[in-house]
Amino acid sequence: MDRSDVTAFVALGANLGDAAQSLRGALKALDEVPGVRVVRASSLYRTAPVESTGPDYLNAVAEVSTSLIAPALLDALLAIEQQAGRERPYRNAPRTLDLDLLLYGGARIDSPRLTVPHPRMWARAFVLVPLREIAPERVSHAAMQAVHGQHTELCAACR
Ligand code: ATP
Ligand code: CA
Ligand code: CA
Repeated sequence: MDRSDVTAFVALGANLGDAAQSLRGALKALDEVPGVRVVRASSLYRTAPVESTGPDYLNAVAEVSTSLIAPALLDALLAIEQQAGRERPYRNAPRTLDLDLLLYGGARIDSPRLTVPHPRMWARAFVLVPLREIAPERVSHAAMQAVHGQHTELCAACR
């Protein structure tokens, strides 16, 4: 890792097609982006759709080390979604792949196309549970308490 590299966290989600395959493919694609290295990835978790519909979701979180600025990292995430056939027929529609930038170092970003930290991450167990698995220092006890009633489980069949 270069001294200038930034540690960022990316949430991965899918509920159409072979979701486990999509998440694994996305991790590989992410690691192959010039200037991005996947440092670690959480287990895959299964969650019933929360604000969405369709089959259960598989979710994971990856820690990356990157020399890209945050908007360029977002572009890379959106390009990988496109390659996975992501469509956006309506808000919260089922999806082949969703990649959200959760954290980018300690940055706070509020631009029309990018908000970091991801504004809804603290309300979602399917984000906080895998994030806590790989970066427990980033998720306080109070943060876990806030999503206490939500159910997400390790995907046993995914290992
Ligand atoms: P949610 O953001 O609630 O998880 P979603 O992931 O389904 O919903 P998308 O349709 O994937 O929403 O994204 C819509 C837009 O959100 C993207 O085109 C992107 O410009 C913007 N966006 C803003 N902040 C972020 C972020 N931190 N990570 C990813 N996309 C972001
Ligand atoms: Ca999302
Ligand atoms: Ca998204």
